[in-house]
Amino acid sequence: MSEQEVFNPWEMAQAQLEAVADRIDLDPDIYKMLARPRRELILALPVRMDSGEVEVFTGYRVQHNFALGPTKGGIRYHPGVTLDEVRALSMWMTWKCSAMGLPFGGAKGGVTCQPKDMSQGELERMTRRYASELVAVIGQAVDIPAPDVNTNEQTMAWIMDTISMTKGFSVTGIVTGKPVDVGGSLGRPEATARGCLFAVQNLAGHIDMDLAGARVVIQGFGNAGGNAAWLFEEAGMKVIAVSDSRGAIHNERGLDTRAVLRHKALTGSVIGFSEAEELDPAELMTLDCEVLIPAALENAIGADLADRVSTRIVAEAANGPTTPDADAILFERGIHVIPDIVANAGGVTVSYFEWVQSLQSYFWDEDQVNEQLRSVMDRAVNHVWAVAQAEKSNLRTAAYMQAVARVARVQAMRGLFP
Ligand code: GLU
Repeated sequence: MSEQEVFNPWEMAQAQLEAVADRIDLDPDIYKMLARPRRELILALPVRMDSGEVEVFTGYRVQHNFALGPTKGGIRYHPGVTLDEVRALSMWMTWKCSAMGLPFGGAKGGVTCQPKDMSQGELERMTRRYASELVAVIGQAVDIPAPDVNTNEQTMAWIMDTISMTKGFSVTGIVTGKPVDVGGSLGRPEATARGCLFAVQNLAGHIDMDLAGARVVIQGFGNAGGNAAWLFEEAGMKVIAVSDSRGAIHNERGLDTRAVLRHKALTGSVIGFSEAEELDPAELMTLDCEVLIPAALENAIGADLADRVSTRIVAEAANGPTTPDADAILFERGIHVIPDIVANAGGVTVSYFEWVQSLQSYFWDEDQVNEQLRSVMDRAVNHVWAVAQAEKSNLRTAAYMQAVARVARVQAMRGLFP
């Protein structure tokens, strides 16, 4: 990946909007309104570290657009978090919620930190400080955070508790991705990966592809990648290679993904797993396979890699993993890219189910969650497929066309205040 050009994600998000605006003849006034986030909050977060010293972290929450409803989007903890990254991710959430037909706008949050070097106590204090600063701008009818890179159900429980302590009563609808006992939804932890599987299965139907025994390569082994590994294996495919931030492993006969997950839980990484060879992470992406799943961060597939990947389907479990140059090359090569705003939308879709359950204090069983998820994913992929056929476009353009058009339609109908 070394020589590849690194795109600023916000420039990438804006270029994508500009391209689709031309294609759908978007009203220039609406375009101006959609091209910028409505609200951006930048925070200095002082946290007492275990050493006794205070460290001041930078945190963000960006609310891109709320035409469709309260804003929705995760919170990520990562050293690479910047305002531009959070802006891009918030815009992508707007299109994602729209593409899936959810009643939400888009938002995103993040704290620039290295969570892998922080203790549980430090993470809890940082999260609570961040949550207390968000009190004024989040709420179950306003903006509803969720997990993202390096945050999880424990993070959500701390946020929910901090807000509840401030309000004086329990507000469960304020975040999704909570532990089940704290008002979370069954099926939420695996939802991003399960939605990705449903999207791949649906697309395979459209392109007449048999997925039995298909070789799957996964970059990233966090919530999305790790769960995708066992779900794709359980669905009859062969996961031949996976990677995390420390390295990559490969076994052409297929990895025992549950064993890899246990190994990672014990050692902190996939590397060192005994029934696989280690692989240069740069080579992982060019292995011969049928389904390639980037499940880590942005800029995973640039133009250089796009020429060399050897797959039929790219399913974007990560947000923004493919650069615009790479997109064009993949399309020309006949590789089907299921765009992030659909491929990883299982997470926010089940977040929506969780929000509904939290508001009603009435909880569904897991089969109901998974069945409804399948029907939402099928509807979205079928629609995107039909638009792509009609427009002779790639799936990303098709997904953007209908997602942006829906937000624009609602924005126009609501009119401009005052
Ligand atoms: N962080 C996830 C995403 O990027 C989930 C967001 C949510 O559930 O609100 O879609």
